[in-house]
Amino acid sequence: MREQIDTMPIHEAYESGDECPFCWLERQAEQSAIRYTVGPCASYMEPDVRGVTDRKGFCRDHMKKMFDYGNALGNALILQTYYVGFLETLENRMDCYEPPEKRKLFAKKGAPEESELVSWTKNRLGSCFICDKIEDNMDRFFRTFFAMLKDEEFCRRVESSKGFCMYHFIHLLEMAPEELPNNRYEWFYKTVLPLTRNNLIRVKGDLDWFIEKFDYRNASADWKNSRDAVTRAMEKLQSGHPSDGPYRSEPR
Ligand SMILES: [Zn+2]
Ligand SMILES: [Zn+2]
Repeated sequence: MREQIDTMPIHEAYESGDECPFCWLERQAEQSAIRYTVGPCASYMEPDVRGVTDRKGFCRDHMKKMFDYGNALGNALILQTYYVGFLETLENRMDCYEPPEKRKLFAKKGAPEESELVSWTKNRLGSCFICDKIEDNMDRFFRTFFAMLKDEEFCRRVESSKGFCMYHFIHLLEMAPEELPNNRYEWFYKTVLPLTRNNLIRVKGDLDWFIEKFDYRNASADWKNSRDAVTRAMEKLQSGHPSDGPYRSEPR
């Protein structure tokens, strides 16, 4: 049963026809993390969850996505207690802050030593409750993917898929030596590299035809598979789905 729960999202990702199954999974993981954070289950009213959001905070990208999701009161409550803790230490750091000396014109170049205030603030703003949740889930998806490669039928599925985006391809390569089942070592490298390359070439072809279509001589020609070539070409490099609109709470 447990195994089914883990493998089901991977199968769904392959059925989705996404340019990269891990991009599809990441979108699912992100939406579920946003829903969990500011959604109707009101996890933010639970003191232990609030304790973690107070400690980790949210990155710029996810603040924007929390805002777009649309629970203004929930966001306000989360921010309120975050601010309390943040201000407390910030005030302390500011009180102890000593401005650095003005750099002389011909002084030796090199980064000046970072003050407590700068390093603490960078650290504080650099962590994110939602990013961490996504990362945990993605880690589990990657491990499950590798475990599923033991199954011959799943390998055939990977072989006939659209490959991966470069971002997740690199991640696969990094995890492979540790996670690959013994009997798939050779198969993996023989399959995944050409699969990734050939599908990049395919998307580049879609992009070429997308551009060709702007030539008046091709005005009446078929779009073929090129209508959404730009968003797919972007996804194939940097992952994600640039054409997605904001993820919002369903109206109740
Ligand atoms: Zn991807
Ligand atoms: Zn984040």
